[in-house]
Amino acid sequence: MSVNYAAGLTPYANKGVCGLPEAFDSPEELRSKVETLAQLVGDSKYVVFNTGAGISTSAGIPDFRGPKGVWTMEERGESPHFDTTFEDARPSLTHMALLGLQRAGYLKYLISQNVDGLHVRSGFPRDRLSELHGNMFVEECDKCGKQYVRDKVIGVMGLKPTGRYCEVIRSRGLRACRGKLISTILDWEDALPDRDLNRADEASRRADVVITLGTSLQIKPSGDLPLLTKRKGGKVVIVNLQPTKHDKHAYLRIHGYVDEVMGQLMKLLGLEIPEWEGPTVCETSPAAPDQNTAFRGLYSSDYA
Ligand SMILES: [Zn+2]
Repeated sequence: MSVNYAAGLTPYANKGVCGLPEAFDSPEELRSKVETLAQLVGDSKYVVFNTGAGISTSAGIPDFRGPKGVWTMEERGESPHFDTTFEDARPSLTHMALLGLQRAGYLKYLISQNVDGLHVRSGFPRDRLSELHGNMFVEECDKCGKQYVRDKVIGVMGLKPTGRYCEVIRSRGLRACRGKLISTILDWEDALPDRDLNRADEASRRADVVITLGTSLQIKPSGDLPLLTKRKGGKVVIVNLQPTKHDKHAYLRIHGYVDEVMGQLMKLLGLEIPEWEGPTVCETSPAAPDQNTAFRGLYSSDYA
């Protein structure tokens, strides 16, 4: 299937600011900023990462508002360029570094706006991940909520039925649920998934450091989550080439390629970047003993 999933969404006027010029820190400046970042990560108790489409451009999937992004090109009457399909795309260095940081205990929670499925396919534990805008590979039962992670993209968007039915066996093996499976990909006006949003909200409030990678932070409520961290006394680090909506709230602002920044960060922390061995789905993190207590009864959803 084409990776231009955006073409499957309904037309929408307010797509945010697109095509802003990119800025680059000098190599020395970048190095010194990543040293500050490594210090922050090393000293913190609860690090949350918040990722956008900018972390998948090196995997061949265009972003939305970058110089060659989907919406930037659309404004110019041009089509975006895709170097891969969703099924063939390999997780980037950044995806794998995030997995390494999680396994090492630094990264406590990951929030993503990406629908390309690369966090899940990299093996990142799903109980430590909120996919706020859905996942091209995931369909969900509209009756019991069971999610199915597939090998191939679902092929339907906007929370529509996929034509398949839930196979969960209920009532002591007598009957399958048979609920309708629906796409998890949001269209513009769709509400965000409750469970993922609640967990992202709670993790953002709990974080002492939130690091945003490759997102212009323009889409609400996803883009405003780092502000919850700041309001609670935490620090916001923004890694993005283009300006973002919340640059003025950043404790540290890094203008560099995310793969470069993450590669340097891992070296400074003395961590290996795990090798990708093909699509892997990990449902629960074995190294998450505090996970169950972390989110218990603390849900809230005000974004004022
Ligand atoms: Zn079901």
